[in-house]
Amino acid sequence: MMSTLRPPAACLIGWPAAHSRSPLIHHYWLRTLGIEGGYVIEAVPPDDLRDFVLRLSMRGFVGANVTIPHKEQVLALSTPDARAQAIGAANTLWFADGELRSTNTDVEGFVSNLDAWAPGWDKAEEALVLGAGGAARAVVFGLIERGIKRVHLVNRTPERAQVLAEKFGVAVEPATWGKVSELLPRAKLLVNTTSLGMHGQGALDVDVGHLPDDAVVADLVYVPLQTELLKAAKARRLRTADGLGMLLHQAVRGFELWFGRRPQVTSELRAIVEADLTHA
Ligand code: NAP
Repeated sequence: MMSTLRPPAACLIGWPAAHSRSPLIHHYWLRTLGIEGGYVIEAVPPDDLRDFVLRLSMRGFVGANVTIPHKEQVLALSTPDARAQAIGAANTLWFADGELRSTNTDVEGFVSNLDAWAPGWDKAEEALVLGAGGAARAVVFGLIERGIKRVHLVNRTPERAQVLAEKFGVAVEPATWGKVSELLPRAKLLVNTTSLGMHGQGALDVDVGHLPDDAVVADLVYVPLQTELLKAAKARRLRTADGLGMLLHQAVRGFELWFGRRPQVTSELRAIVEADLTHA
């Protein structure tokens, strides 16, 4: 009863409670939309996850984001939608018709960011996706959902690409790094979902010079914001979509589900999160 009297609040469930930009994003939207509500970080160890999630409402929360290492475990504690099921992980929880539902908003984060920065990107017949980890699952799901006919999937560990191909069907074709220069001229969309190019990680060795002149390049890495891949694509005047854009767009749906208003990804919000990333 108490929870209905308090302003609605959502939380981020993770362990350990790592520094996250989610509070910055959701507080910005609460403030600018004039909604009385909250968003807090909750450090929940794995042994306490079940109890925490089952008592989410009693704790006064209208929903939650879920991050490492709980994204897979929450599936069994909620009713996952088709996206969360296909990806095998959920990052957003909310209540509907008296039950706890879950979804994976990385899919719409990825496609909405491309829609914003490179409209018409989904006319591409073939896409080249680098990496086959957790983020690649959301990317591949989004590409197939938007009608991309052929997704070439390149990964250092070939077995992981094979698993995704079996999961997502004939549109996904695993390939080796050795084939990348052969695939680039056919790819109207290149997506980096590996951690290569990130601060402290190795360099991503891909020559965007081989891409078609009207190709679009997306990088999920957002530290640094301007990766070497994006710089090279821009130097070639190719359209690009960066990792920060995806991060901001993936937060939209959770906010809407919890607080009832669809927020906008504004340039002001981008600047706020960009400043936080720069000073981290
Ligand atoms: P993950 O599950 O750990 O997958 C990492 C991927 O990078 C795997 O495909 C891995 O290949 C590959 N990789 C790592 N080191 C490599 C190397 N030295 N050489 C070749 N390949 C290498 O991680 P994830 O969750 O998918 O995240 C991947 C990246 O996406 C991270 O940078 C993350 O920050 C970013 N991300 C961004 C957003 C956003 O909103 N912008 C959302 C999610 C993730 P193997 O399979 O061979 O190990």
